[in-house]
Amino acid sequence: MSVDPRDFFFRHALLNAVQHENVPKAGTVLGMLMGKHPEFRSQAKEMSAILKDVLSEVEALSPEERKERLMAVAPELLTEKKEKKEKEPLRELKNVGEEGVVMRFAPNPSGPLHLGHARAAYLNDYYVRKYGGKYVLRIEDTDPRRVEPENYELLLEDIKWLGLNITDIVYQSDRFDIYYEHGRRLIEIGGAYVCTCDAESFRELKNSKKPCPCRDNSVEDNLRQWDEMLAGGFAEGTVTVRVKTDIEHPDPAMRDFSIFRVVDSPPHPRKDVTVYPMMNLSVVVDDYLLGMTHVIRGKDHIANTRRQGYIYDYFGWKQPEYYHYGRMSVGDVVLSTSAMKAGISDGTYSGWDDIRLGTLKAIARRGIKPEAVRKAMVDLGVGQTDINFSWENLFAENKAIIDPVSDRYFFVPQPALFEISGAPSKTAEIPLHPNESSRGVRKLEFTGKVHISPEDIAGKSFVRLKDLFNVTVTEKDGEALITYAGDSLEEAKEKHAPIIQWLPYGKASVPCRIKRPDGDAEGLCEEGVKHMAGEEIQFERIGFVKIDSVSGDSVTAYFTHR
Ligand code: GLU
Repeated sequence: MSVDPRDFFFRHALLNAVQHENVPKAGTVLGMLMGKHPEFRSQAKEMSAILKDVLSEVEALSPEERKERLMAVAPELLTEKKEKKEKEPLRELKNVGEEGVVMRFAPNPSGPLHLGHARAAYLNDYYVRKYGGKYVLRIEDTDPRRVEPENYELLLEDIKWLGLNITDIVYQSDRFDIYYEHGRRLIEIGGAYVCTCDAESFRELKNSKKPCPCRDNSVEDNLRQWDEMLAGGFAEGTVTVRVKTDIEHPDPAMRDFSIFRVVDSPPHPRKDVTVYPMMNLSVVVDDYLLGMTHVIRGKDHIANTRRQGYIYDYFGWKQPEYYHYGRMSVGDVVLSTSAMKAGISDGTYSGWDDIRLGTLKAIARRGIKPEAVRKAMVDLGVGQTDINFSWENLFAENKAIIDPVSDRYFFVPQPALFEISGAPSKTAEIPLHPNESSRGVRKLEFTGKVHISPEDIAGKSFVRLKDLFNVTVTEKDGEALITYAGDSLEEAKEKHAPIIQWLPYGKASVPCRIKRPDGDAEGLCEEGVKHMAGEEIQFERIGFVKIDSVSGDSVTAYFTHR
């Protein structure tokens, strides 16, 4: 059967563009033709030229138009498309009782939350919703060096944004007395001792599996020193309380680890103390006393889980069920709190919501919805394998949420003003949403001149100005001359005319800057966008954006995704 190569290219380029939201590489489509129809192999040059033309035509179409055209020319290709695999629900947790589960999200208030936190937050949330029970937000603020007063507020804002099913909020800094009481009990039962060795000599002894001299002090001596510690008798760095584990344990990190220390400064913003529990002590005491049944945390806590086992054993307590998920690397954004802080203070980043950062505040500013983050995180599951976070998946989840409710507008990047000769005055009535007629229309009045992107007409002879009319483009003395060529959409389709965005001359178009992590785009957009501050819209053929601010006549938008 003979095949029209232009037709072949058009169908497959469209299909690819619809499925992957991107125009395919020439090599891919050319390879498909040569593979299926070897008779064209001898005409590679001609085929490349035709393909180039077809690809720029497809490039010029909006995602909706691509779908429409594909439905028109090759609906069978669309239905052949593999159905997206049904997502598997997450594994069941072991030993869930009648009353469901008690779980926790336990961030440190050292900065706002980022994508890494969102994983712990949503996985725990998932199971509390599934089985019922309690979800404790535990603010782990026992390290005065990593607590800044404003971080509490930032954290609570993020928790609200995430939409977690939190039932209880606990601040560890309200529980110092409970930790002291358990520290004392641990000393009394011989499970811990006060150590006044300097850090370096302790390390040397520990590394050669030798006990330090303090390890054999009597309980009475230890209690006396403990009281002295609490009374402020030891300066920072001169004392610590250690759990007596196995000094010959094959893993040096398990040998007599520290559970209390003195920090003189900075002072704690919520509590006037200098003796601080280390996380292994406070986490065990709280997990136990607050009744945690299951703990889901990152695999970087596996060693802590083992250390904590010693404390559970001394107290005769049963450990919760633990699940440790693998590491998640998040490309393209900065996640380290210290790097973010440094960048903000030296002016590299504008603030915690700078879109080059991986904070929840930054991704919210970009127009990502919390429900999309939830889906993307639950999708990753609780497996121990290390994974890469998929922005593509997050964007796909987000798109499914915002696409049906985002109005469409025109944006023309780097516009130039053109006169259209021979055209009647006309008001274009353009649906705000292609599939939701109830959202109404917007009206763009054509009065003789339009702003368009010179790039959109370069090398073209017949173009459709979307929802307005067709034009021919000719060149005279290096200048494009644009002439009215009738209203027929059918003719534009038949001629495979690129359909491009345009904007009216005058007040109906306003300056607009689209900010994206890799650089801004400047241009004009419809004046109606000025009333959309804080909303998510789609700039046709560009992608979804969140309107960040409007100042005077100028709009600033953040690019979300295509
Ligand atoms: N606060 C700890 C952290 O953010 C979590 C402690 C835990 O999961 O046990 O890493």
